[in-house]
Amino acid sequence: MTETAITRRMFTALFVNTLCFSSFVYGSEPLTYETDIVVIGSGAAGLSAALSAAGLGKSVLILEKMPVIGGNTLLSTGLINAPDPERQKQFKIDDSNELFFKQTYEAGHRKGNTELIQVLVDKALPTIQWLEQFGIQFKEEVIQIYGGIWPRGHNPKVSHGRGYVNFLSKACKEKGIPIKTHTQALSLLFETEEGKKKIVGVKALSNNIPVEFKSKNGVIIATGGFSANLKLCSQLDPRLKGMKYTGSPSATGDIFKAVQEVGGQLKDLEQIQCNLGPIDKFTYRSGYHTDVKRHILVNNKGKRFVAEDGLRDILRDAVLAQPGGEVFILVDSDGYQALSSRFQQNGATSENLGYGWKADSIKKLADKMKVSSKNLEEAVAQYNAAVDSKKDVFGREPWMLVKKISKPPFYATKARMAIHYTMGGIVIDTKARVLDNDNKPIENLYAAGEVTTGIHGTNRVGGNGILDAFVFGKIAGESAANNKNAY
Ligand SMILES: Cc1cc2nc3c(=O)[nH]c(=O)nc-3n(C[C@H](O)[C@H](O)[C@H](O)COP(=O)(O)OP(=O)(O)OC[C@H]3O[C@@H](n4cnc5c(N)ncnc54)[C@H](O)[C@@H]3O)c2cc1C
Repeated sequence: MTETAITRRMFTALFVNTLCFSSFVYGSEPLTYETDIVVIGSGAAGLSAALSAAGLGKSVLILEKMPVIGGNTLLSTGLINAPDPERQKQFKIDDSNELFFKQTYEAGHRKGNTELIQVLVDKALPTIQWLEQFGIQFKEEVIQIYGGIWPRGHNPKVSHGRGYVNFLSKACKEKGIPIKTHTQALSLLFETEEGKKKIVGVKALSNNIPVEFKSKNGVIIATGGFSANLKLCSQLDPRLKGMKYTGSPSATGDIFKAVQEVGGQLKDLEQIQCNLGPIDKFTYRSGYHTDVKRHILVNNKGKRFVAEDGLRDILRDAVLAQPGGEVFILVDSDGYQALSSRFQQNGATSENLGYGWKADSIKKLADKMKVSSKNLEEAVAQYNAAVDSKKDVFGREPWMLVKKISKPPFYATKARMAIHYTMGGIVIDTKARVLDNDNKPIENLYAAGEVTTGIHGTNRVGGNGILDAFVFGKIAGESAANNKNAY
């Protein structure tokens, strides 16, 4: 193969869209490119970081290790929290930033960083409005997502994370922001001035070819969590051993090594969140539990055992304490119809695979589930009575006692706890600057989204994950664009 042929092939394979690059050096490895800002990761945090920086006139490039963009954002249910008086008042829901702050802090068992939480809360609605500028639309409803504590979850019209990723990546294309898939960031390039490190780029492997992406203004790490790294998760929290994970395989935490090499601080890695997933041999999670007001949980005796509107860590412990760690999620026809088409499809798949059931009466459903029909009928009747009285023996809140399980057909699916989200990660400040072990910012290095830590303490509120990624992604882009330390 001639040198020209090699070069041309490299060029085509790696950099179809290279307009923003100001230099291109080849011949001796590694290839080198230069831009203002390099963003690592193409999920909610990465896309919002890139767009906010580009909006301030900077050239930006996104590196994505997977063949597809979007990470866990793409697979997520898509619900995002924000106090939103206009939208909430139609449903007679009182809300405020103060309540949102208090609930986020207390749900994290007062371990979250109050400064970061305050930013999350203050920027929640403005960030949702900013997302709407790119064409993302939300349904009129607001719902209380599993572990969400309050009905403030905005539900995108294009269900799950697809709308976020489609609209934002389209905006990136329009703004000339290339997204380089098959490009894994391996380490951070730095210079040392008076003993202090200054980040000047990223060393990556792009289609198996080493490349250096030089950045003038900074590097933004938006690589998501590490829930797919089951070995690390179960080493950090042995209770998770043997659990499944239902998200993207991209969430491995491989960037942590690079962060530590430049002195970045990692914290609270052992704080790992679980959510209801499928039973052992199956892959699909039904999502019947997404909207708290529409489902109940029962064990294999057909009995309720917990207030379904509780915190995720309490729900995890309650489910793990049930026989075999397996439970059933129950909805009626209205609950099923309110699900996204993906979750309805997953429900149908669970029926085909033998861990989901549908029946015209609770008795018939119990028979199919092989649980006591007497117990299940009592459980449903007791719950429906609680909807009338607004008093639940398990302590479900009155505002989550609004929908009876009464309209046939009834649906149930078997579920167990799965690894879902990692609350620990890179320590940042309110400007999304990465801090070192002395809590000092590392020059030109930023991080946002699930790869960071600080907001969720020891228990994340459902619907705050995507919000965190968008809010701090946007901030990271602004901070890098306005970076006075650009060289
Ligand atoms: C099934 C599921 C449902 C969820 N539902 C909700 C919900 O409804 N509401 C909510 O608030 N939260 C939800 N979450 C959590 C939420 O989706 C995530 O916390 C959020 O999307 C994370 O966004 P992110 O941009 O930080 O990371 P991601 O969206 O995961 O993006 C990170 C990207 O970085 C890339 N990457 C990683 N390492 C490298 C590297 N070294 N080089 C280059 N690229 C790299 C990855 O491939 C990935 O594409 C859900 C999570 C799951 C798994």
